[in-house]
Amino acid sequence: MKTGFIGLGAMGLGMTRNLAKAGHLAAVYNRTVEKAAALAAETGAEACGSIEQLAGNAEVIMICVSADQDVLDVVDAVCIGVKPGTVVVDMSTVSGETARIAAAKLAEKQAEFLDAPVSGGVEGARNGTLAMMVGGDAGVLERVRPVLTAMTARIEHMGGVGAGQACKAVNQIMCAGINQAVTEALAFAAAQQLPLDKVVDVIAGGAAGNWFLQHRGKTMTNNQYAPGFKLALHHKDLLIAERMAAQVGLTCPLTAATLADYAKLMAQGYGDEDISALYRLKQQ
Ligand code: NAP
Repeated sequence: MKTGFIGLGAMGLGMTRNLAKAGHLAAVYNRTVEKAAALAAETGAEACGSIEQLAGNAEVIMICVSADQDVLDVVDAVCIGVKPGTVVVDMSTVSGETARIAAAKLAEKQAEFLDAPVSGGVEGARNGTLAMMVGGDAGVLERVRPVLTAMTARIEHMGGVGAGQACKAVNQIMCAGINQAVTEALAFAAAQQLPLDKVVDVIAGGAAGNWFLQHRGKTMTNNQYAPGFKLALHHKDLLIAERMAAQVGLTCPLTAATLADYAKLMAQGYGDEDISALYRLKQQ
């Protein structure tokens, strides 16, 4: 299917390369135009000068931008050019409310919308092994499944519009707890003067093994925090999760503690580092 992609950041770059390999990528747009020009030269896709131009020529429009307002601004621009029947798939991590507003705007143009946030990090985006949680019409998902399959190892339909984002909030709360546990445990290991690479290797193979330890354990203990997943983006996701929890009368202490830790790191200028930069605080 003729697919246009908006947002060539850390995630979008890997995803578009996999779409190109599968023969789906027709056009790309990025706010910083140089990134779109470079990817177009590499893949043969068209680099569009505006979102409106991209929207008018695509059967499927994929979005992967930063936060709620960014998605809504992009959708407003898509609405100017979009044709009836086009399917817009947003893979950004935003609130379920934003997904429902985007769906309503596109419905006015007879276009379809799926919220389809992903998990698996930049490695998953690069390797085409992302896990995708989808909200929206199940029949629409089936129409675009061949495109989504080029970027993912697993696709789950979670329910109506917004259900994909609700599931992603579950993932982000869990990531906060895992980040707290791994960074605290490795700071403890360092204080015990253990050989840290061996600690990561042996624990990754046992009951406490997990993706974050495997992929970020050795970099954080070498004080390398290149994203990855930017800490400021996870902070944004946890604010969404905290708001959703409050709406149903839940408190999430781990989420609150992680938000406070991230706020400290962002105030020190570390917001663009990987979330494993939490190790900086644990070492103190
Ligand atoms: P990123 O590297 O910061 O890239 C953000 C992208 O969005 C850039 O292409 C940026 O354009 C574009 N953008 C931001 N605001 C825009 C706007 N108002 N209009 C048009 N384009 C805009 O972020 P990322 O890591 O790729 O993450 C993208 C989304 O995926 C986020 O919602 C994030 O929470 C989610 N996510 C990230 C990961 C991860 O591990 N990184 C994993 C799963 C999900 P410029 O190039 O011009 O700045």
